[in-house]
Amino acid sequence: MSDVMIELSGLGKSFGDLEVLRGIDQQVERGEVVCVIGPSGSGKSTLLRCVNLLEEPSAGKVVVDGNELTDPDNDLDGSRRHIGMVFQQFNLFSHLSVLDNLTVAQRKVLGRGKEEAVRIAGENLERVGLSDKADAMPAQLSGGQQQRAGIARALAMNPKVMLFDEPTSALDPELVGDVLGVMRQLADEGMTMLVVTHEMQFAREVADRVLFMDGGGIVEQGKPADVIGNPKEERTRSFLARVL
Ligand code: ADP
Ligand code: MG
Repeated sequence: MSDVMIELSGLGKSFGDLEVLRGIDQQVERGEVVCVIGPSGSGKSTLLRCVNLLEEPSAGKVVVDGNELTDPDNDLDGSRRHIGMVFQQFNLFSHLSVLDNLTVAQRKVLGRGKEEAVRIAGENLERVGLSDKADAMPAQLSGGQQQRAGIARALAMNPKVMLFDEPTSALDPELVGDVLGVMRQLADEGMTMLVVTHEMQFAREVADRVLFMDGGGIVEQGKPADVIGNPKEERTRSFLARVL
């Protein structure tokens, strides 16, 4: 088994004439936590969306756990099952209870029986501190609780990789900590994570590696203490001066 979980080579993405990703080469190791920082419009979300082919790359290869998702013969639905994604906007199904939100894909996509799906949902609600909310409707939850339910829903699918796109950006400040706490716990458990975030403290404490993106490329990368604490590149410095 290779130690590389995500491998991007020559990854490019254009929307018409607009080149949004310019030949990204990256390897994320099994169990590694990589935080992606950078200004708005630099291509962070597009990069993440290319990892599970929510966005189809214009060039290059995406390999996750040995499966090349960009191979036209790849079973894309099969490969995507192993990649959990959490967005800024909590995208729970509003007409389903929290429990049903956690069981529907397990049953439809993984073919689990009801009893097993409910058991696994319960385990994952407990993991994110929402055991008492199984029967609630999403609208009855705070934003932070909805986001934790979204994380639990992704975890119930037993992902090999979790992608987070600014998971706390839409939250009231007092709710951010609980969500970051759940993510920190996941990192401690050894989950491979690619996290786009503006939470520099989280990146400093939890990331194994930080990527600074600008203009569709990775301008600087390394340990958080270096990239955030002592950046080499002028573009990184001026970005950090604006957000810190
Ligand atoms: P970030 O997440 O770093 O803010 P994005 O990846 O969302 O950046 O966007 C990078 C660039 O790609 C921006 O200029 C954005 O307008 C453009 N872009 C993103 N998605 C699309 C799309 N579906 N069609 C056209 N342009 C897009
Ligand atoms: Mg974005």
